[in-house]
Amino acid sequence: MEKNIEKKLKEIISLLSDNNIDLNKPVINDLIHQLIKKNPYYNSVHYNNETNEYEIILDSNITLKGNLGIIFKESQINDRNITTDQISYCNQNNNCKNVLKEKYCKFYHPHSELLKLKNNNLISEEYFNTMIQYQKNYHPKSWLYKPEYKKNSLRKIGSKNNLKTDIFMLLNNPDRKIIIEEFKSQIIHDILLLKEIYKYDT
Ligand SMILES: [Zn+2]
Repeated sequence: MEKNIEKKLKEIISLLSDNNIDLNKPVINDLIHQLIKKNPYYNSVHYNNETNEYEIILDSNITLKGNLGIIFKESQINDRNITTDQISYCNQNNNCKNVLKEKYCKFYHPHSELLKLKNNNLISEEYFNTMIQYQKNYHPKSWLYKPEYKKNSLRKIGSKNNLKTDIFMLLNNPDRKIIIEEFKSQIIHDILLLKEIYKYDT
């Protein structure tokens, strides 16, 4: 349980244990209201301790897995003195030589994919634990909608009036798997952002 909620729950319990407490006291209503607002999050987002990823299953056939990532500024992307790794998915996937040699890879490897390597004894537990500390990061333009066939970080799907064309273009794009993975990781990133807003908007 989130510490904040646990603390609020304890506050309510201690207030309720006082026999003279007025149940309509604003402080109790306020605390209960805060709890009700936060609880739905735990019904929809699961934190996987083994992979250090948040998971959401939509309609039993779409699984989103990921974390809150860094959206770099454009000036940082072009600055050689700043490390802006983990933006692109590693195109070598689980055949990546860096990973198999337990070296650092500057491209992102989904944690649940690395888990398969660990479970097959192809990477050590220690290396796995280091790698799952990295999260998927983003190019600042990846939220910018501009449907184009060519390879770039712009969002290729997003508007109702152009949906059929966008989907057709996407399904015929040789990079569709990566584009969809990027889109899914952005959705969970946005949901986790929303969760952060609600943590403080009490
Ligand atoms: Zn790699």
